[in-house]
Amino acid sequence: MAAVERPEPSVVRTGTKSGMLGSGGGGRGGVRVTGEGTGTGAVASNADQSYGGEGGTVGAGDVSSDDHSAESSVSEDATWISWFCSLKGNEFFCEVDEDFINDDFNLTGLSSQVAYYNYALDTILDVDIPESELDDKQQELVEVTAETLYGLIHARYILTVRGMHAMLKKYKEGAFGRCPRVHCSGQAVLPVGQSDMPRNSTVKIFCPMCWDIYFPRSRHHSTLDGAYWGTTFPHLFLHTYNNLVPQRNPEKYTPRIYGFKIHKSAVQVQRNRASLPHDEKS
Ligand SMILES: [Zn+2]
Repeated sequence: MAAVERPEPSVVRTGTKSGMLGSGGGGRGGVRVTGEGTGTGAVASNADQSYGGEGGTVGAGDVSSDDHSAESSVSEDATWISWFCSLKGNEFFCEVDEDFINDDFNLTGLSSQVAYYNYALDTILDVDIPESELDDKQQELVEVTAETLYGLIHARYILTVRGMHAMLKKYKEGAFGRCPRVHCSGQAVLPVGQSDMPRNSTVKIFCPMCWDIYFPRSRHHSTLDGAYWGTTFPHLFLHTYNNLVPQRNPEKYTPRIYGFKIHKSAVQVQRNRASLPHDEKS
């Protein structure tokens, strides 16, 4: 699914790491635009017809030009990290400080969670890997693993002061989207995982006004692993930045039939309230 909706960055990536992992080609920017433009564009034109999300309103041509403008801000000698974070669909990631990654203490336990750990780490940190050490298939695996490893490091980083600050900047820009609930009036949301273990569930968005979670609006984000943000992040974030906690909008939606409220005794009300916790029944 991810491969169809969003071209595997690894595929694109293999062609971009000229001289390091492989198959030559131009710099990062040029190769990426071509790859992404073709892939996403083709999908967008047929899969997005009924979709009103971020990606859904643009046609195939627009996607390519969007990518191009996004890419042009990343120079050819950009780091792997800034390249990865600039990819379409990776907007929820902030750039992890290399100092954080270089401190082994911060990576404790991660080596057992991903294959090719050392190569993946070298990839993230732009350390040259001699071409002779890995065959094509292994190189591809390393690319994929590097993304997983980056996600797991990211989950830890965003709980630190610096990481939270980086996420604060994105939050203020509205990079994580807005709450879809009408009475939240476009409240900015934060990414959250339903599990801290990878491959359990995709990332969701948490609204600090209604305290609920939702699927991200863009299909690009709906395939990302929730563990790359984890279960703690938005709550520790709001604990840290108290001033950002919004006041709850007291307005509540009231269902009506021909203008009349539905009586408590109606089956639809009874059934809906039956499973509510006691304190929410009033
Ligand atoms: Zn909300």
